[in-house]
Amino acid sequence: MKLTHIRQRLRPRYRFATSQGGVDELDTIVVRIEHDGTVGYGEVVPSALYGQSLETSEAALDAMAAELGDDPFALESVLARLVDRHDDQRAAMAGVDSALHDWVGRRLDVPVWRLLGLDRPRTRTTFTIGVAGMDEVRVKVAEALAAGYEALKVKVGVEHDHETLTLIRESFDGPLVLDANQAWSPSEAADRIRALAQYQPAMIEQPLHAADWRELAKLRELGVAPIFADESCERPADVVRLHGYVDGVNIKFTKCGGIREALRMITLARGLGMQTMLGCFVSSSLAIAPALTLASLVDLADLDGHLLLAHDPFEGIERRGGVITLSDRPGLGVVPAV
Ligand code: MG
Repeated sequence: MKLTHIRQRLRPRYRFATSQGGVDELDTIVVRIEHDGTVGYGEVVPSALYGQSLETSEAALDAMAAELGDDPFALESVLARLVDRHDDQRAAMAGVDSALHDWVGRRLDVPVWRLLGLDRPRTRTTFTIGVAGMDEVRVKVAEALAAGYEALKVKVGVEHDHETLTLIRESFDGPLVLDANQAWSPSEAADRIRALAQYQPAMIEQPLHAADWRELAKLRELGVAPIFADESCERPADVVRLHGYVDGVNIKFTKCGGIREALRMITLARGLGMQTMLGCFVSSSLAIAPALTLASLVDLADLDGHLLLAHDPFEGIERRGGVITLSDRPGLGVVPAV
């Protein structure tokens, strides 16, 4: 198998910000695996939260290129090897995992969701309103509602949360997911969350720092909304650790290392009676399609990373209002945009 990679520059339509900071543009990495005349693609979206950068991801990809072997159908053994050797570089692993699945699907002329025995992905996605000034929030919410999105996710954990949420609730009474991205300390979180009850959140994501996960159990008991772990839940074993402490987990294809690892996390979470959501980072459609492939297995999809871009370099995910679907196209179902 021949693995090559190239950076691609992405620009969100609006500066994308959370309680932890923001970006005006970002680079991701497109992975291409070629074997026996067939090509598969994947996208690497490194996250500093998990000790990854473009450079560490590229170094990992170069090492992985020599470790792939010559059988793309041997997904389990190839990816088990990568988990053993590159446990902290799961973004790169996800790019390879996705390129291999894309390769197999294209080779067999079937969509990956069919290959995995799943229903055609067709799911409502939340649309994210990042941290911004009130004028910008007003414009973004109006645009989101005009575009037909039926569920919103709002980044909170900053000074003007209440101003933002009051403004949003003036024009939107549908499901509202709140994501604090680790903003609060255990001592302040309960008061912060009680104060958010008036906005009737459908769930609250990662109110505490990743390492404070034990304290999440107390926040569940407030009964304001289901508490979900995101930054606290990276690998399959984290799902087991978090059982009893949270209501659900945010599983991200790019965070956990690909389709294979995401399936393990979904299976564990469902087996333990936990709720599941699929999340994403800002990325092109190439990193959303593998997650969307698994949408029929989870309770909630937050797969809008590509919808936040000014221009998406890949195409193939269809959107009608707030519902996104994949076609019958073989592989992951996305191709470079013309
Ligand atoms: Mg989150």
